[in-house]
Amino acid sequence: MNKNSTFTIIFQSFWLKNDNTNYNTIKPVSEDILNPDKEPKIKEHRAGFVNIIGNPNVGKSTLMNALVGERLSIITSKAQTTRHRILGIVNGDDFQMIFSDTPGIIKPAYQLQASMMDFVKSAFEDADVLLYMVELGEKELKDEDFFRKITTTEIPVLLLINKIDKGNEELLEQSRRHWQKLVPNAEIFAISALENFGVREVFDRILSNLPVSPPFYPKDALTDKPERFFVNEIIREKILIYYKKEIPYSVEIDTEEFEEEEKIIRMRSIIMVERESQKGIIIGHKGNALKRVGIEARKDLETFFGKQVHIELYVKVNKDWRSSDKELKRFGYNK
Ligand code: GDP
Ligand code: MG
Repeated sequence: MNKNSTFTIIFQSFWLKNDNTNYNTIKPVSEDILNPDKEPKIKEHRAGFVNIIGNPNVGKSTLMNALVGERLSIITSKAQTTRHRILGIVNGDDFQMIFSDTPGIIKPAYQLQASMMDFVKSAFEDADVLLYMVELGEKELKDEDFFRKITTTEIPVLLLINKIDKGNEELLEQSRRHWQKLVPNAEIFAISALENFGVREVFDRILSNLPVSPPFYPKDALTDKPERFFVNEIIREKILIYYKKEIPYSVEIDTEEFEEEEKIIRMRSIIMVERESQKGIIIGHKGNALKRVGIEARKDLETFFGKQVHIELYVKVNKDWRSSDKELKRFGYNK
């Protein structure tokens, strides 16, 4: 099977969780509606890149998933679960929105984080719309360079105050005023990505900001990442849930085999750790801990691929992979 084959989903079951809005059928306001007397024109196609940025844990992945309507990036309560830029694509008859979910803004402490920040920087270069997300109560951005960029950029910035379900009107008004002063070039939206509140308004605003352009990807493509990427992410999510402390951040997953047969998909994935002691922890007493990861990952993989899945998991020590340029390159962190 082609290693770089893309994972495509036909949008027949594209429904959002709460309001049942099918964003793929929403059309931009066309001139026909604004000028009903005029002859109907051929609709222009809009397409562009929308980058979601903000501190770790503010709800970027949750928003992107609400917008894309499929579970593409992993969401947990731990910071920095998103290491890669993930593309999710929302298609309509006359538009294509390409979303990327960047890692949170952090000061690079070791090599891995440094290359994560490169992904964040590139978010400014290829974006047509920037979604800068903060959570209710948040007051500042830690990285000053980033702050300067966001306040001086020519790209339209939608500043999303997320998690408004957690506060009250007064707090929200304070927050609105605070951010409007801090980032005067931004248009502010109050949302709850988790409860799908205000997401529709954000979607509409993104659409009106997209340039007229033909689509960049085939219209039935949901994402440009290969299947193996999702296998890795689903396994990594289980590790984040079931292990404590530094373990999740020392782990990388490498899916070596992905063989799709008529009724079943067979996979073999390596869980890479930095030290022997971590290997023991991952495997657990009589292998029980690893078994649990396998069972839970398999359930999600079967739902995701809509097929029976057989998965074998191995644990391998790859000393200090996070500090090695070569290894980081192999996992796609360095360009
Ligand atoms: P990211 O690191 O910015 O991508 O954040 P995630 O999308 O992974 O979300 C971090 C945590 O915040 C998760 O536990 C989410 O369920 C939670 N979360 C996200 N959006 C909301 C929201 O609108 N309201 C509440 N109460 N929690 C949210
Ligand atoms: Mg995330």
